[in-house]
Amino acid sequence: MNFRELGLDERLLEGIDAMGYETATPVQAQVIQPILEGRDIIASAQTGTGKTAAFLLPIIHKMLTSPHPANHINAMIIVPTRELAIQIAETMEGLGYFTDISCIAVYGGGDGNSFVTEKKALSSGVDMVVCTPGRMIAHLNMGYVKMNQVNYLVLDEADRMLDMGFNDDIMKIISFLPKKRQNLLFSATMPQKMRDLARKLLHDPVEINIAVSKPPEQIVQEAYVVFEPQKIPLIKHMLNSKAYTRVIIFCSKKQHVKQLASELKRARFSIEEIHSDLLQDKREQVMQDFRNKKLKILVATDILSRGIDIEEIELVINYDVPNDGEDYIHRIGRTARAETKGTAITFISEAEQRKFAAIEQLLGKPVTKVAVPEEFGPAPAYAPKSGGRSGAGGGRPPGNRPGGNRPGSNRPAGNRGAGGGNRADGNRSSREQGASGS
Ligand code: AMP
Repeated sequence: MNFRELGLDERLLEGIDAMGYETATPVQAQVIQPILEGRDIIASAQTGTGKTAAFLLPIIHKMLTSPHPANHINAMIIVPTRELAIQIAETMEGLGYFTDISCIAVYGGGDGNSFVTEKKALSSGVDMVVCTPGRMIAHLNMGYVKMNQVNYLVLDEADRMLDMGFNDDIMKIISFLPKKRQNLLFSATMPQKMRDLARKLLHDPVEINIAVSKPPEQIVQEAYVVFEPQKIPLIKHMLNSKAYTRVIIFCSKKQHVKQLASELKRARFSIEEIHSDLLQDKREQVMQDFRNKKLKILVATDILSRGIDIEEIELVINYDVPNDGEDYIHRIGRTARAETKGTAITFISEAEQRKFAAIEQLLGKPVTKVAVPEEFGPAPAYAPKSGGRSGAGGGRPPGNRPGGNRPGSNRPAGNRGAGGGNRADGNRSSREQGASGS
């Protein structure tokens, strides 16, 4: 399903496009419509499924199409950790880039300055607040937060919040909210205590269950943590190190497919590219040559990640980290079919670290990181929480977003101020500028 079919506002469609999302993930395809219709939701969906956009998109759409008082909070998203708060605010920043909806991440652990910035935003009325429970309560206790126009409440990773003992804090925050509001509850698991919470909070909810497939056990999964320019030399090295007969290399963008394919052709590998710009005849010819083993290496976009059934693919290389966990599982599932062993190797650039961490979360375990051979020079450390740049841009390289270098997106997370989701472009609405303190 594409996003236009969902009837989303043009400004949002522009943001979606800039984020590089082409089609809705399963959770998005299932929850966006009922949220637009005003229904409460209880969804079991893990990180990596695209759940953040699944609730942000319809909320932003509704904010754009049904105005609310400018100086009040309209949506409140409660999350268990500051990392998740920052990440959601960043996704909001990307998706809402062409709108004037303001957002602030409110979380503990910052310095006194961040508390002051948050206080300013909360008291002047930012549109959307993404908060951790303890910090929000600290603000609520001071009496300046305007909660009486909150129309949307999201509890994200609700099971984790209950495990962390936030039940009372959540209920206290909710006691400040108006009774009439839309409630969206997302949780990776649905233990009894979650159902009890849902019964207390939700009104006639739509129940959605996104079953996440797991990759077959016999796939050996490895990853190289690299600087972007190291990817092509390493791939060449890898392809030269063994006489592979069938390899698929996946890239998230046609442009990467074309660039990599031309480099590998120049190095005289038996390789062809496959993507949607090719005529159907040519595509079929390439696939036939690959099936017949006339061709050893295919460089492809995700059009090849689902459905194709070719036996004996020995190696799948992810030149780019896939956009979500489901795509990762589909891509690597091209190898190790029918009980044979296969290897899947992913290259993770600095900008992709956080996105890969979300995939590891979905897999439920870390993927083995292999050291980059010394001859390729020093490689970055794997530090998705602190060092890596945001993965919220769907793999878009830094500086390649609409509006050029967008504050907040390309800064290392560690440098972020309290307003993780605030922009300081200078052309935001005055309401938002007040919120960001810029
Ligand atoms: P989440 O489960 O919300 O943490 O999202 C996981 C990753 O999927 C993030 O890097 C998102 O930017 C990305 N993502 C979300 N929706 C889509 C989509 N429709 N197409 C491609 N990537 C997406």
